[in-house]
Amino acid sequence: MEEALEPEKKRTRGLGTKIAPSRPRAALLTAVPQTQGQAAARTAPKKTGPRCPTAVATVLKNQKPGPAVPAQKPGTAAPPMVGGKKPSKRPAWDLKGQLCDRMAELKCCRERNQILDQENQQLRDQLREAQQQASTLGAERRTLEEELARVRVQAEQGQQELGRLSAQVLELEERLGTQEGLVQVLQREQLGLQEERRGLATRLEEQERRLQASEAALSDSQAEVASLRQEAAAQAVLLAEREDRLHGLEMERRRLHNQLQELKGNIRVFCRVRPVLPGEPTPNPGFLLFPGGPADPPTRLSLSRSDERRGTLSGAPAPPTRHDFSFDRVFPPGSRQDEVFEEIAMLVQSALDGYPVCIFAYGQTGSGKTFTMEGGPAGDPQVEGLIPRALRHLFSVAQELSGQGWTYSFVASYVEIYNETVRDLLATGTRKGQAGECEIRRAGPGSEELTVTNARYVPVSCEKEVQALLHLARQNRAVARTAQNERSSRSHSVFQLQISGEHAARGLQCIAPLSLVDLAGSERLDSGLALGPGERERLRETQSINSSLSTLGLVIMALSNKEPHVPYRNSKLTYLLQNSLGGSAKMLMFVNISPLEENVSESLNSLRFASKVNQCVIGTAQANKK
Ligand code: ADP
Ligand code: MG
Repeated sequence: MEEALEPEKKRTRGLGTKIAPSRPRAALLTAVPQTQGQAAARTAPKKTGPRCPTAVATVLKNQKPGPAVPAQKPGTAAPPMVGGKKPSKRPAWDLKGQLCDRMAELKCCRERNQILDQENQQLRDQLREAQQQASTLGAERRTLEEELARVRVQAEQGQQELGRLSAQVLELEERLGTQEGLVQVLQREQLGLQEERRGLATRLEEQERRLQASEAALSDSQAEVASLRQEAAAQAVLLAEREDRLHGLEMERRRLHNQLQELKGNIRVFCRVRPVLPGEPTPNPGFLLFPGGPADPPTRLSLSRSDERRGTLSGAPAPPTRHDFSFDRVFPPGSRQDEVFEEIAMLVQSALDGYPVCIFAYGQTGSGKTFTMEGGPAGDPQVEGLIPRALRHLFSVAQELSGQGWTYSFVASYVEIYNETVRDLLATGTRKGQAGECEIRRAGPGSEELTVTNARYVPVSCEKEVQALLHLARQNRAVARTAQNERSSRSHSVFQLQISGEHAARGLQCIAPLSLVDLAGSERLDSGLALGPGERERLRETQSINSSLSTLGLVIMALSNKEPHVPYRNSKLTYLLQNSLGGSAKMLMFVNISPLEENVSESLNSLRFASKVNQCVIGTAQANKK
């Protein structure tokens, strides 16, 4: 600003120096009133003496100059004033003097006019100069104004910039404040972290100490582990040896077990006499006898029959005929289910060793076959029959053998053969109760294995599943019973369990069927009776049953006699069971006997049939091993 103002000062100074001398002149020009001079000239008396022009000049010089006035006409001009005093008036006659005065006056006026011209010229120069100065100053002023405007714009911009910068400064200050706050927080955090770090360092030291201790312990343990490993390796060798020995022993056990079973006979016959049921007449004490000491298990049975037709000559009744029978084992009426099973448990186990096993229940209707095979009323474990017991035994032995590397699987089927037609007792849904759709077929071309078409083969692995199957079979029989009275006793029920065992490590396999057969009632029909339509049907049923039972006997005979032809195909039963009979098979027949005297004839028939079977010896059993 100071610089901007500077030219103004210079200008003032310049003006001062140049204009100052003109002022007194202007003042001089204006100070003397024109009228006064003119009046003086008009009124002044004519002086006698000539008026000196220098005097006039002096007067003019000493007085303030008046304004430039036009030259007065002679005669009208007033006499000049000298020293403020009116010149003395010439007398009217002094024309010469007056002329001289006028001449002097004119001269003076001319000189004055000249001076005034000069002065005018000077003033004009000064005015020109001043005008030039004014124009210069005007240009200078404009420049300065432009400059000022520019400076103002600059100042404004500067102001704006300043404002912006101030805002920025404020913002930055704010940020600084935030940053400072943050820094403080971070510092506090840092302090906390430093504290934590110190804590961690302490813990780390502690951990390192522990680690060192652990490492020491670990190296001790490693040494121990190494020695234990050595020991384990030695134990493993020993174990392998033991396993080998165990396996050898197991195979030996199987061999000996089989030998024992063979010694007991590949065909064994057990006789079981059921108890007298409530409401049945008590038989004579001598009717059924079980000879033998109390220590030995009974194997003999005597049955007495008094024949009314035979009479003595004296007319007294003939003494009863005693029929003695001997079997592998005889179970008197009081025998419990578990006692019976105990005797066959070993035989059942043979099936796990790969020998086909077949157990029959033979006898007249009501003699206790179903009770023996399936058991009494469901839900009572005391009266459970051979089927559930055998399966439970098999599952538990298979479990034991799994410890020796054996894996077993079991698949169950349950069919009924009635009048030479096969029906699935495990059928469910719409197939329930339908008969005749099942056929016995070879599993495949050239295969020894037989299957029943349309029958269910159910994998089982626990007792519960077996119970469910037996329950289903009972239901299916009940459905059929409504159609034909007591059909169950007129048909053979065949429960088959396909047992497959594998010892993967030794590449051993054993497959064998276990068949548990509840045969149809063996009673004969009295042919002397009149044959109504019901009886005829009954006769046909009976013939079918008798035919299949006698075929069973014939098959057993043929096998025993090692005949080249075994008539398996003569009945559905023997055809289905052909793999469970013969060669490598083990067979057990329960002959179930009624304790009642009224059934004596059927009992004798059964016992005779069973005795025949008992005389048979079927080959030397060979395990079905691969
Ligand atoms: P089957 O099947 O030979 O026709 P059951 O097994 O149906 O004969 O037996 C006929 C009746 O005798 C059934 O009520 C059964 O409970 C009963 N029973 C059979 N054997 C025995 C036994 N050993 N102990 C008790 N009751 C028996
Ligand atoms: Mg029955």
